[in-house]
Amino acid sequence: MSAQIPVKDVTPAQARVEAVDLYANREKIYTRAFTGIFRNLRMLGGAALFLLYFGTVWLNWNGRQAVWWNLPERKFYIFGSTYWPQDFVLLSWLLIICAFGLFFITVFAGRVWCGYTCPQSVFTWVFMWAEKVTEGDRNQRMKLDKSPMSGQKLLRKIAKHSIWIGVSVATAITFVGYFTPIRALIPELFTLEASGWAAFWVGFFTLATYGNAGWLREQVCIYMCPYARFQSVMFDQDTLIVSYDPRRGEQRGPRKRDADYKAEGLGDCIDCKMCVQVCPTGIDIRDGLQIECIGCAACIDACDNIMEKMNYPKGLISYTTEHNLSGQKTHLARPRLIGYALALLAMMGLFAWAVAERSLVELDVIKDRVLYRENEEGRIENVYTLKIMNKAQRNVTYLIEVAGLDGLVYEGKREITAQAGEVLSLPIELSIEPEKLPSSTNEIMFRIQSVDDANINNDADSRFIGPSVR
Ligand code: SF4
Ligand code: SF4
Repeated sequence: MSAQIPVKDVTPAQARVEAVDLYANREKIYTRAFTGIFRNLRMLGGAALFLLYFGTVWLNWNGRQAVWWNLPERKFYIFGSTYWPQDFVLLSWLLIICAFGLFFITVFAGRVWCGYTCPQSVFTWVFMWAEKVTEGDRNQRMKLDKSPMSGQKLLRKIAKHSIWIGVSVATAITFVGYFTPIRALIPELFTLEASGWAAFWVGFFTLATYGNAGWLREQVCIYMCPYARFQSVMFDQDTLIVSYDPRRGEQRGPRKRDADYKAEGLGDCIDCKMCVQVCPTGIDIRDGLQIECIGCAACIDACDNIMEKMNYPKGLISYTTEHNLSGQKTHLARPRLIGYALALLAMMGLFAWAVAERSLVELDVIKDRVLYRENEEGRIENVYTLKIMNKAQRNVTYLIEVAGLDGLVYEGKREITAQAGEVLSLPIELSIEPEKLPSSTNEIMFRIQSVDDANINNDADSRFIGPSVR
């Protein structure tokens, strides 16, 4: 039997500490329940967003789902309009407008998007509410987590996770319902008749919602969200931020409610740490502006409640600006903000114009590979295929015209009806007497127009080819 050489760890104690310090385990945040004006605003905003998200998918329009990304047919229905892949440039514009809108709001009001409207925040607040109703407030949850497993603890945990999973499943089904009509999707899911992809995406978004809002929470905001990374670059000294006023709050410290604390050299902060206990990212705003702060104003509400109880003026923590904090004037109109506003207005105007001017019919002309041929009457003939895409939500009859060459004869159907959303292929022949051809290659133009609405029209250029003209 071989003897094993004893190994002694000779890593210096300091290095061992550093190695451990490189990774910090997540410390669970137990937020305290609170009330206040910003909480009420957030609840109102969250309720409106929930209604929009969960309600829109159930609206019908002309016998079909009003908002529906029909991926197999590559059509996007939004109420009375249908958008096709050819219109996706509008979607790009819309995303650019949203990005500029976010830049503008960030420069003006900091992270209000994060605190009030970001789905990650909205769902996290809902999940925190579920936690509170099933496991109790902060202290009760901390006690519950430290206690050994018992029947009551198990029941509370099951109740919490059931609500989390229920909300996650509803969120996921609603999301997939924007791509697969929800009235058919739900029964298909429950009878296991839904397509594999629909079931996969429902499972994926259920897990994503449950994981992000239930377990990851502030980790998403701090480590995963790209917006959180770059938004601080946009801040200037006039951007609205949530901030503690150290000039008023320090020296912090406990005191009796009716004590003459100023005589004791104390400021308005009683060091109760309520602002820390309500913070969903677990930071102490009194340490100054931090990347972890999502601007939710929970600490403002909590501190205002304390100030009220102490009979001190509210606003020790408030929405303010760095200029304001340092006693200077806040400038609302500043070059960067005006620049974003102008860019935003210009893009919104252009977008509205592009949507209003969007043609409800697409026309594509494909010329036959045989350049030309001579028919029995000695006329020169060219053959084309017209692709007509009816983007309107009703059947449309079009009148077809060809222009650009005198003497050109078009003997095919002059009128054609396309069903709503139909793509038609129409082969046509054009002919001309050879002596009327001015050149071997002649520019011509096809034009289609609805017989009952002159605004529905489109045109496409092509060429009429003939023999060389001497
Ligand atoms: S510091 Fe205040 S505003 Fe910032 S995340 Fe925490 S509670 Fe919200
Ligand atoms: S809630 Fe207000 S008073 Fe209490 S520690 Fe925070 S800043 Fe100080």
